[in-house]
Parts: sequence; structure tokens; C-alpha cells
Amino acid sequence: MKLHTKIFVAMALGVLAGFVLSPDVHLPGLGWAEAPARAVLGPLVEPVGRAFIRLLKMLIVPLIAASIVMGVARVGDVRRLGALGARTFAYYLLTTFASVAVGLVAVNLVRPGEGASLPAGVSAPEAARASVTVGSLITGMIPDNPVAAAANGQILPLIVFSLLLGAVLTTLGERGDALVRWFESLDAAMMRLTDWIVRLTPVGVFALIAGVVVSTGPSIFANVGRYMTTVLLGLAVHAFVTLPVVLRLVGRASPRRFVGRMAPALTTAFSTASSSATLPLTMECVERDAGIEPRVASFVLPLGATINMDGTALYESVAAVFIAQLYGIHLGLGQQVIVFLTATLAAIGAAGIPSAGLVTLAIVLGAVGLPLDGIGVILAVDRILDMCRTTVNVWGDAIGCAVVARLGGAPTPGAIR
Ligand code: ASP
Repeated sequence: MKLHTKIFVAMALGVLAGFVLSPDVHLPGLGWAEAPARAVLGPLVEPVGRAFIRLLKMLIVPLIAASIVMGVARVGDVRRLGALGARTFAYYLLTTFASVAVGLVAVNLVRPGEGASLPAGVSAPEAARASVTVGSLITGMIPDNPVAAAANGQILPLIVFSLLLGAVLTTLGERGDALVRWFESLDAAMMRLTDWIVRLTPVGVFALIAGVVVSTGPSIFANVGRYMTTVLLGLAVHAFVTLPVVLRLVGRASPRRFVGRMAPALTTAFSTASSSATLPLTMECVERDAGIEPRVASFVLPLGATINMDGTALYESVAAVFIAQLYGIHLGLGQQVIVFLTATLAAIGAAGIPSAGLVTLAIVLGAVGLPLDGIGVILAVDRILDMCRTTVNVWGDAIGCAVVARLGGAPTPGAIR
């Protein structure tokens, strides 16, 4: 059975188990199961769910450090990248900002989490204290001690240090090789470990869903359905309106033709939920089918697969605000600005592998003091959203190639004109 099939089955079983475990729900024909389930399963649900979340959190620090250092180091000498680098980064940032903005507008209009009022549990006092200002966020991004930042799980300063370290490694030539190899191997190990932990998702989903049903009752599902719709709506606007407009106006190419050329990569992105796994196909489609210069593609795409994730950024902003709404925590403008910035950074920090965005969502939640337990609520539908946001991530990378090539003076290739 495929992983996502297993997750769907686990989800359904989790809902069922939640009903059986709920003291005030009695499913017809399942009365006999209630007492044994409460005795055996009851005490396991909470710790198993919590253990799964801890496993995800365990990955954050090493995964981010390794994938960012390598993402930047793979670029080559930053001093010589010049114009190509500047254009690429400008495209990445502007389109990611646009997608987060769409996400924030959508989630504030639809308000999918309203009316649930989950008990905020242990994290509530933290939430109340979270009056972080943008100024403190910016100074806080600079680590005064990178080792302490990593040890305390302060992700933003860790990202900044990793970006700088990756950049400096590209300037050292042979003297940097040992460290590059070290990070390369850490990167590979973390990817593999994530892969293993992601395989446990069905068990985690089962326990978390059952726990959610027991503690909040079935009404939560109406909220999760609205949340999914909100993310999908935002992704659709970005993929079908924003990006095509950029491609048409700046890249001077036909979105319809380009999407045709990119179809194999986009469907692979959808089914694997991994930008990195899709990368070989993305490169082939962009270079061979769409006719974009390999020099541009081989710079823009590998970097994009790691750091340019429009779909992930949009999803993270929607998910964070949704979780705040679920717990009845009001996020003011200042805090939404923090969500805006951290969702962008968290998307940059997410590796191009399945569920990476779910892991780095903790950054966004942490920055505005939202309860991490909220991840449990959205976990169940994460796979399907992951497939959709990964497709948008790869679409954004591909359009980036066309745009950056065109800005560099290359004529639009005939295949996509
Ligand atoms: N799976 C996504 C990707 O590979 C990252 C994420 O989880 O959002 O692009």
C-alpha cells in the first residue's frame, strides 16, 4: 500500500477509534468495543501522538542547517554569481512574498478556524506573552551564539547563520571542501531520517486524530475541511493567476504552452510530494522541452528546489493563522507580519521532501507563540495538501527559469512563445 493510502486509512481508523473512546458518543454495534478500547488504546493515544510530534521536531535543527548550507554552497562562488544570482533571488523572494500575501488574505477572509475554540492547553501562557515586535524579530534573527541558537531550537538565527556559512564556503575553494563534504553528508543523513520518520506518519496520524476526536468532538472536521479549501484556494490563485501573469509579463512566454511542456514534472511533483525528487524531471522539461538555457536552469532549479517554495510558504501562513483561530487566539497586524516573514523563511528552510513544510511550520507557530499541538489537527490532511503545494513549488521554480533567462537577455524559446 502507498504511504498516502495508508495515511488515509489511518485517518479513518483514528476517527473511528476516537468515537469509540469518547465517553459521550455511542456508535451502534460497537458498544462491546468501548470498555476494552478505553482500557488498552485509551492510555496509548496521547503519548504515541506526542512521540510522533517530538520525532518531527527532533529533525528541525540538523535538517535546516544542513539543507540551507548545502543549498547555498551548491551554487558555486557567490562573488562570481553576480547578476544571475541577484535576479534569481529577487524572483524567489518576490513570488514567495506574493504567495504568502494571497494565503494571509484568504485565511483572514474565510476564517476556517473560527468557532472551534480548542482548549489552548499548556501553551496558552506562552501565547499570551507573544507580543514579539518586528524590531525584536529582526535583531533576534542574528545569532549572538550560533551553537546556543541551535541547541535552544531558535530557528531563525540558525537559518541566518546557515545562509552565511553556505555563502562563505563557496569562497574558500579547497580549504572549504572538508566542511562542505561534512554538511553534504549530514544533509543526506537528515533526508534519509526524515524519510524514515515520514513512514511512521500513519501511526502518528491515527493517534493524533483519535486524540483530537476524543478531546474536541466531531465538530472539528468542519473546520479542517474549511482549512483545506482555504489552502487549495490560495494555491489555485497563485498557480493560475499570479505566476502565469509574471511569466507572461516578465518572462514573455505563454503560460499555456509552458504548462504543457512542464506536465511530466508537475505530475511527478504531485505524486511524490517532493521538489528534490522531481528535480531531474524539472531540469529535463525546462531545458529540453521548453528550450531554456541550461546555464540558467542548472543554477535556478537546484537552488529553487531547496529554497523557492511558494506553495509551502502560502500553506504555512494559512496553517498558522488557522491554528490561532482554532484556539481562539487573536493575531494582530504586527503578529501577522511576523507570520508573513517567518512563513517565507520557514519555506526557505523546508527541504524539498515530503512533509518538510509540516516540520518547519513549527518555526512560524513558535515565532508568534501558538501551541505546537495545533499541528496534530492539520496533520491528517497534510499529505494531500503537500502534494498540491509541491506542485506549486515546482511550477514556481520552472517559471523562475523562464523569467531569469529572459531578464538576462535571452530570447523566449520558440517552444513556449
Ligand atoms: N514537500 C514539499 C516540497 O518538496 C515541501 C513541503 O513539505 O512543503 O516541495
